[in-house]
Amino acid sequence: MSKLGKEMLIGFIPAVAAFLIYMGYNVFPLLLIGLIGASLFYVVKTRGGGSVGVGSSGRKNPRMNRPPAYMTFDDIGGQDRAKGELKEALDFLIRYEEIKKFGIRPLKGILLTGPPGTGKTLMAKAAAHYTNSVFVSASGSEFVEMYVGVGASRIRDLFKEARGRAAKENKQSAILFIDEIDVVGGKREGGQQREYDQTLNQLLTEMDGIHTSETPRILIIAATNRKEMLDSALLRPGRFDRHIEVDLPDKKGRLHILQIHSKNKPLDDMTSLDRVSSETFGFSGAQLESVMNEAAIYAMREGDAVVRQPHLSQAIDKVMMGEKTDREASKEERRRVALHELGHAIVAEKVKPSSVSMVSLSPRGKALGYVRHNPQQDQYLYTKMEIEHQIMIALGGSVAEEMFYGGRSTGSRNDFEQSLRMVGNMVDSGLTGLGIVDRRQVTTEELMKVNAEILEDLTERTRQLLEKYRSVFTASLDILIREEVLSGDQFRILVKSNEVPTSA
Ligand code: ATP
Repeated sequence: MSKLGKEMLIGFIPAVAAFLIYMGYNVFPLLLIGLIGASLFYVVKTRGGGSVGVGSSGRKNPRMNRPPAYMTFDDIGGQDRAKGELKEALDFLIRYEEIKKFGIRPLKGILLTGPPGTGKTLMAKAAAHYTNSVFVSASGSEFVEMYVGVGASRIRDLFKEARGRAAKENKQSAILFIDEIDVVGGKREGGQQREYDQTLNQLLTEMDGIHTSETPRILIIAATNRKEMLDSALLRPGRFDRHIEVDLPDKKGRLHILQIHSKNKPLDDMTSLDRVSSETFGFSGAQLESVMNEAAIYAMREGDAVVRQPHLSQAIDKVMMGEKTDREASKEERRRVALHELGHAIVAEKVKPSSVSMVSLSPRGKALGYVRHNPQQDQYLYTKMEIEHQIMIALGGSVAEEMFYGGRSTGSRNDFEQSLRMVGNMVDSGLTGLGIVDRRQVTTEELMKVNAEILEDLTERTRQLLEKYRSVFTASLDILIREEVLSGDQFRILVKSNEVPTSA
């Protein structure tokens, strides 16, 4: 019933009642029936159609309860080691009688550490299902308040909620998940951060108050990607003394995650998720979920009934670099970008033959063009030569601009950032003239010197290499500008047919 209708009814009933009384009728029985009817209507409406949230005092109609949305360890791709370690720790919660018999102190806190989007929250949810516990969660940032004491009282409420929900749902245990624990559990510097300190102290007090004999048994799972920031009081025995690393997935793990997220999508029989997992080294579970989702969006947008490999490839590019943009570059800019990308591609093809999978001039995210590389095997160790080659690929763009324009542009900023990061890695790994050093022992001047030496040397080597392939630039430039995209094979034919025989 509309609001206006309701208001008219409310006004109409007393008016009719007043009229009937005025006419001498006894309206009392009528009013009584009306009142009972209205009460019945209200009860049916609130119990049946109204939504009752968790923690609300309203009573739920059991028949209206939807099955709980739970997460199991089977819904988490890869992470076999982390899942194994977590399950082992959770047995403390399940086999508590034995644990009591042996006098083992209860496990109170598990710390999940690892990069964002690797499935830490999923793990905590699966842990709740595995142990048949209630799941209560909060994020560290929710405790940050300007007013002293509010964070601490929120911690108290959280524990109270866990106990209350367990009692209400008749569960023997509760899992309390605190994401971004570093926000409240950062190192206490004293004085300045009173609010954070109080929140952290309250958390420690609540943890110390957990006993094996208590029902519900409470286990706190916290997550962070900055473990080194945590206060040592949180990490000491009896608190968060189990640390489980939830790392970026390897190739097998990526394939598993892709399979999980493709279950509800129509995939063409010819698509190879194995290829996608090879092409997504360094992606987190969240990014892989996004790849599958974006691929399905591309398929739908193109009016395809199924998701095909090109949709997946486009989705990888999107997740890696951002959506295609409509930025209309000038003719001169496009020429410069084309030379820049050819510079990257030629170096890549020469230091790692057959590694280029595509040279593209279509702008994506912040990039005006990009080179896509063929999938390689997952690699965690690099030799000095391999890092140098990677730096040369990154420098190829700016060197090409210098060769054809006599100077660089702002388009190389990202390439330089990457190069500097890689030089830093070389310094830390003892692969430079500085020898094996601790960065804190090295002065800024020494670091700048070694950076400059390495980058100048590699820039020169890149220049010498690219000079040999000037003819490849000139032969490919117009085609790339016209076609916008060169496949790896097209590009290799251009390189082969235009390189000067003696310089190969
Ligand atoms: P953050 O540190 O940012 O809180 P997180 O590690 O807690 O991240 P989750 O919130 O668990 O990450 O994961 C985000 C989303 O990514 C999930 O909802 C899921 O869709 C997907 N995802 C991440 N890891 C996995 C995985 N191992 N298996 C399946 N899906 C995953």
